[in-house]
Amino acid sequence: MSNADTYDVAVIGYGPTGATAANLLGRMGLKVIVIERDPDVYGRARAISTDDEVMRIWQSVGLADRLQQDMLPNRPLNFVDAECAPFIDMKIASRGTGHPPQQFLYQPAVDAVLRDGVARFSNVEVLLEHECLRVLTKGDGVELMVADLRTDSFKRIHACYVIAAEGGSSPTRGQLGVGYSGRTYTERWVVIDTEVLKEWDAHDRLRFHCNPTRPTVDCPTPLGHHRWEYPARTDEDEQSLLREEAIWKVLGDQGITPENVKILRAVIYSHHVRVADRWRVGRVFLAGDAAHAMPPWIGQGMSAGVRDVANLCWKLAAVRSGNAPDSLLDSYQSERKPHVTEVTRRACLMGRIITERNRILATARNHVFRALSRLPGVNSALVKMTWIPDARYREGFLADSDHPAVGWQIPQPWVTGPDGVKVRLDDILDGQWAVLYTDSPPAGAQAWAELGAPMIRVTEPTLVRWLRRRKADAVVLRPDGFIYAASRSAQPLPRPSAVTSIRTGVAA
Ligand SMILES: Cc1cc2nc3c(=O)[nH]c(=O)nc-3n(C[C@H](O)[C@H](O)[C@H](O)COP(=O)(O)OP(=O)(O)OC[C@H]3O[C@@H](n4cnc5c(N)ncnc54)[C@H](O)[C@@H]3O)c2cc1C
Repeated sequence: MSNADTYDVAVIGYGPTGATAANLLGRMGLKVIVIERDPDVYGRARAISTDDEVMRIWQSVGLADRLQQDMLPNRPLNFVDAECAPFIDMKIASRGTGHPPQQFLYQPAVDAVLRDGVARFSNVEVLLEHECLRVLTKGDGVELMVADLRTDSFKRIHACYVIAAEGGSSPTRGQLGVGYSGRTYTERWVVIDTEVLKEWDAHDRLRFHCNPTRPTVDCPTPLGHHRWEYPARTDEDEQSLLREEAIWKVLGDQGITPENVKILRAVIYSHHVRVADRWRVGRVFLAGDAAHAMPPWIGQGMSAGVRDVANLCWKLAAVRSGNAPDSLLDSYQSERKPHVTEVTRRACLMGRIITERNRILATARNHVFRALSRLPGVNSALVKMTWIPDARYREGFLADSDHPAVGWQIPQPWVTGPDGVKVRLDDILDGQWAVLYTDSPPAGAQAWAELGAPMIRVTEPTLVRWLRRRKADAVVLRPDGFIYAASRSAQPLPRPSAVTSIRTGVAA
């Protein structure tokens, strides 16, 4: 399907997943349409945290520095007992990605910046107050039936591919008959967003109050906000939980009074652990909450959606520009789903640590962690168990090789660019295929150069050490910074046989 009215990609849903996809595809020069039911960004603050890898994706579309202005990086994380005494003081160490490892954020502000970013691309059209009613595969494309909610009229939109990023209740997923298996927690959580009026001790840190009577999370969020989340007890009805007196009782137990904060909104959420059975049906891809849902304990729901589209969009661009076969798109699910499954497992584990209701077990937990946390190495082991897994694909679109560097995402140090100015590595790579080598160009590099991949000599010491630890003197990077192929000095780089038609991968 290809005529002037056909879009390369239609994105349904303009939450963080859809807006990131629109930025990525817009930058790659694709003709894109975004369809969003609501008139404006969703006003309820949901996500409050993200990580360095996600910032790196937003960096690739030129928005990281702007987003950073509205974020709080690297705040301390404490697990505290019922008396607010810390028994774990957790620090997330930098993994050399060029961004602080953990960030607190205010989702409506992030959504707004992502949407402003999309406005830079004349090749991306955004239809607000339009609801996608039906997605139908027709020949070699997809037809979308869309309702214009402002005029009560209908239109047909044609696209070669569709990214369904319409959130957890994804109507497209339902229409495609894709299962969304898993479970919904019976426990409901009260989420309170506040505006800070007067700071208090520990206002600047995330605290998991591991109080068996009322487990609570409280967390600074930027732009003068602070969030509390706690589960409803089975005997508490929603209306009474949301009454001001009930909220102030919970905040008051932590010493917070109306002098400290003004309540902005109180909402009740249920948490889900779900994953779509298939993430691709023909030309339609599920992404973000449409493909998976997880509890918020390590702040990864939105972040997982951003990772999804970072994985998918360069592949769509390569296929649309005729530089890669459609089968490349099958690697989307095989690469992303194992990561999402592991992140979800960790989020659930973290939830179990925080919400232990048995007093004896909770007391034992506090003592054990308090004692352990004094031992060297325990903090980093705990972070490794509960924070996001390594950025590494074990299967997918990778060279057929058992080289230990293949599948890892390259770190991102600050490096000296060709004009002598310090920049982050990705700003040099610019979302293209590239060959990096430490000493001299490896045998086999020429074949990659002929496809258009630049040859870049790496001298930055941390990057050289990182490569040597993985026994690599040369690596071939995909446009998303993951290592496609690698070699040691005496060996030639694998030939680009599987990617002969990809050239530099992106269209722009
Ligand atoms: C209390 C809470 C705390 C959270 N904390 C975190 C956190 O700290 N970190 C984190 O990473 N994540 C967190 N999350 C999860 C995060 O908010 C979601 O994962 C994220 O918003 C999902 O983004 P999305 O773009 O996939 O979907 P959504 O944000 O749900 O966006 C989907 C969009 O699609 C639109 N839409 C739906 N149907 C149609 C249709 N038929 N046609 C057109 N448009 C349609 C909707 O209007 C909506 O704008 C939290 C969630 C909650 C509830």
